[in-house]
Amino acid sequence: MDKKIYSSEIERDIRSAVENFEIVLREQVARNQRMRAEREEKGAANKTGDPVPNSNRDKVIIGTAAGDGIGPIIMTEAEKVLEAVLRDRLASGSLVLKPIEGFTLENRLAAGKTVPDSVMAAMSECDVLLKGPTTTPNAAMNTANIESANVYLRKSFDLFANVRPVAIPEEGIDWTFFRENTEGEYALGSKGEYITGELAVDFKVTTDEGTERIARAAYEYARANGKKRVSIVTKANIMKKTDGNFLNICREVAKEYPEIETDSWFIDIMAANLVNKDIRNNFQVFVLPNLYGDIITDEAAQIQGGVGTAGSANIGRNYAIFEAIHGSAPRMIEEGLGEYANPSSLLKAAVMMLSHVGYRDESKRLEDALEAADKELGPRMTGMAGGATCREYTELVMSRL
Ligand code: NAD
Repeated sequence: MDKKIYSSEIERDIRSAVENFEIVLREQVARNQRMRAEREEKGAANKTGDPVPNSNRDKVIIGTAAGDGIGPIIMTEAEKVLEAVLRDRLASGSLVLKPIEGFTLENRLAAGKTVPDSVMAAMSECDVLLKGPTTTPNAAMNTANIESANVYLRKSFDLFANVRPVAIPEEGIDWTFFRENTEGEYALGSKGEYITGELAVDFKVTTDEGTERIARAAYEYARANGKKRVSIVTKANIMKKTDGNFLNICREVAKEYPEIETDSWFIDIMAANLVNKDIRNNFQVFVLPNLYGDIITDEAAQIQGGVGTAGSANIGRNYAIFEAIHGSAPRMIEEGLGEYANPSSLLKAAVMMLSHVGYRDESKRLEDALEAADKELGPRMTGMAGGATCREYTELVMSRL
């Protein structure tokens, strides 16, 4: 690591970083102002679980995009289940399931685009999207700086609420995480600065509007679902500006929901709380910045039975994407174990999606069928050593629909 760095190079990098920082600040202030204008135009309440804006149209279009790695395997099963549970609506023509082609790593690399234009256009034509996991290009793939397709889609469609439920009924655990989905460390993921041979800096951004809307989404959900407690999770003792502001704004919003108890925790102790069997079933709804939400929901999913058991919703004012919480599991594919991927993550996302578009009966039928299949499989849960295959699991679900 003995590098000879000239002070002129360092000076050049510092000047460039300062110029870029000004651009970044102006862009983010403009983004906050856009969000404020939209809120003022559309009203304050951000409820998740509303029907899609266009659901009063004659036809609802649900897009499906398989993704990479185990994505196509679990999506094939999810499509079979959706066709079964939505048979009547599909037959009447009031609903269309639209497979979206070309959302693969190979195509994204070939096009040199995070999401190729034709794929983006096809997704935009749908009311909601069921999405498989996508592999994020890394340095070893020797590619231009293509960012995560997930982050790109969440930002492009402004899907600010990442809702991730985790439940273990026999332990009294019923958690719903409201992870802020467009800000924090992810807002400027590829815009960090490097001062040659000296240091690297990444940015973390929380805007007032971005925080207020995720806080409202969490409290509105709590109120609508009879939840008695919301826990705000930050590291405000260290990240004083970003997390400090997040905490203060959540507390302000909490005052409008006096019937709901609010408490606040630091992320490190919350990570411990989730494995503390004496207290963990007292938590109900969590609201937290992007990165903490990303990490702690994998922990929560693992407590539930593995990341293959957890689904999630990415919800904005005009669009929503539903997906598993996990990634493309490339190692499962390399080891020839793809057929053992658990599709229940994607199917649980489908339960949330059906409820979101207002198909409550179908959503409940699918939810009950998943629960029955999980019970029947028990220790042969898909994804575990000696577990059932993806297809066996789906067949069990279909037989319980
Ligand atoms: P991963 O979630 O793909 O895998 C983590 C572990 O969970 C692995 O051991 C895997 O075998 C297991 N696993 C995942 N899904 C499973 C399932 N359905 N059934 C059984 N076991 C399952 O995490 P990773 O390996 O860190 O990431 C792989 C790629 O996915 C990366 O490129 C990452 O950027 C991307 N990723 C995408 C998303 C998304 O599309 N929303 C989310 C996370 C990661």
